Amino acid sequence: MCGIFGVFNAEHAERYAFYGIYALQHRGQESVGIAVSDFESIKLIRKAGLVLEAIRKEDLNGFFGYSAIAHVRYSTAGDPGATNSQPLLGETSLGKVAVVHNGNLVNYLSLRKELEDKGKRFFYTSDTELFLTLLEEGEFIPEGVELHPLDRELLPKVFYVLSRVRGAYSLLYLFKDKMLAIRDPMGFRPLLMGRIKDTFLFASESCAFDILQAELWREIKPGEVLVVDKQGIRSYFPFKSNKKAMCIFELVYFSKPESFVFDNWVYRVRKRMGELLAYEDQVSADIVVPVPDSGLVPAIGYSQAKGLPLELGLIRNHYVGRSFIEPTQELRDIKVLMKLNSNRAVLEGKRVVVIDDSLVRGTTSKKIVGMLKRAGAKEIHMRIVSPPVVGPCYFGIDTPTRDELIANRMNLEDIRSFIGADSLKYLSLEGLRSAVENPQDFCDACFSNLYPLEVEDTALRIR
Ligand code: SF4
Repeated sequence: MCGIFGVFNAEHAERYAFYGIYALQHRGQESVGIAVSDFESIKLIRKAGLVLEAIRKEDLNGFFGYSAIAHVRYSTAGDPGATNSQPLLGETSLGKVAVVHNGNLVNYLSLRKELEDKGKRFFYTSDTELFLTLLEEGEFIPEGVELHPLDRELLPKVFYVLSRVRGAYSLLYLFKDKMLAIRDPMGFRPLLMGRIKDTFLFASESCAFDILQAELWREIKPGEVLVVDKQGIRSYFPFKSNKKAMCIFELVYFSKPESFVFDNWVYRVRKRMGELLAYEDQVSADIVVPVPDSGLVPAIGYSQAKGLPLELGLIRNHYVGRSFIEPTQELRDIKVLMKLNSNRAVLEGKRVVVIDDSLVRGTTSKKIVGMLKRAGAKEIHMRIVSPPVVGPCYFGIDTPTRDELIANRMNLEDIRSFIGADSLKYLSLEGLRSAVENPQDFCDACFSNLYPLEVEDTALRIR
C-alpha cells in the first residue's frame, strides 16, 4: 500500500506536494519522497519516516518548482528501507523522469530477469523501477489509438511499458514539462483528479484535495493514460479490459472514511457494512464498542440498525501509527497496547458487541478481548464487518502469507476460542458485496479466493 500525489502548474508545487502527501500519510509510514520540476530540470528529496518528521522546512528551501509528484510508502515488494523509497528518478533519451507507483506488478521478477539477461542494470529491488527501465526498451502504438502531435514522441514509449507490465498500478510520471497519470486496465488501485483553477492535482484519495481546498474533479478511469502539460489535458485508453478489479479492501480498511474512491464514498460503504452485519446478527447486548479508528463508522451503522447505544469502550492514543503496517509481529504486538486503552467507565458489567473492520491474524483481536475483560465487560461479542481473510493479496496490499491467515488455519469456533470472545461473527461475502456500488467491478480475492488475474511470478504465487 502506498499513497501518491501529483500537482501540475502551481507556484510552489513542492509545498502542495508536501501537504497533499501529508494527507495520505495513513497509506504508508516507512518513507516519503517528493520530486519537483521547475520546467527545466527535476530535483528529488527522499527520506525515511513520517512526512512531518522526515521533511524539514529547510529541505524545501531552494526546492522550488511548478509541478511535483510525491509518495508515501510501505513495502509490498522490495526491501522496506529508504533505498526503495519513491519517487524513483531516471535518465532517459527524453531527459529526466520521475515516477511514483501504488500497486504491485505480478510479472516483475520474470520481466526483470528478461532485462538483466539482456544486460540491463537494476538499482533497486522494487517493481516500480520497471516503469523507468522499460521506457528505453521499445515503442508501441495500439491499434486504433490516434496520438495528438504533442504526444507522438513520448506516448509510444509509455504504451510499450504498459504493454509489458501486468498487475496493479496507479502511477504518476513527472517529466520536466509534463505529467502523466495512469491507472491499470482493471483499476486495482484508486487515482483521482482535482483542480484549483488552472492547477491540476492527482491523488490516491480525495482527502488530499480537501487539505488544499481543491475541487474533486473526477477519477482517472481504469486503463486511462492522461497527459497534462501547458497545452492542456489529453486522455487515452490504449489497453482495455472487459473486467475491472477495484480493491474492496480500500473501502473496508485502507482509505480514510471521508474519502471518495472507486465511485463510492468510503463513509457510506463502511456504515452500510455495519448495518448489514446488524441485520445478519441475532446477538443480545447492552452496548456497541468500535475498535478505533476503522471500526468506528461501521459501528455507527451497526448500533443504529440494532437500536443499541454506541459507547467509546476503547480509546485510541493518536500518537501511534496503525498496527497493520509494522513489519514484524513483535512490533505489531507492542503497538496494539501502545495505541489502545479500555474505558472501564462504560464497559463494567456490560454485554459488549465489539466492531472491527477485519480479522487477519487474530492477534490484535485477542489482545482487545483481553483488554475488555480486564476492564470488567461481562460478555464480549466480536463482530467483523468483512468476511474471513482467506487469501493473500498480490496486488499491492501487505497481507500476510496464506499460512499466517488465521481463517486458513482454524474454523470459526477455534478462532473464537483463540481470541477469547463469547461469540464471533463475520459479515457475509454477499453482505460485503452488497455494501458497495457495482460489486461486479471489485476484486474481493482475499475474502473469496477468486483472483481476477493470474500471478506469474512464482515468488509471489507461493505465498
Ligand atoms: S486481494 Fe484483497 S487486498 Fe488485494 S486487491 Fe483484491 S481485494 Fe484488495
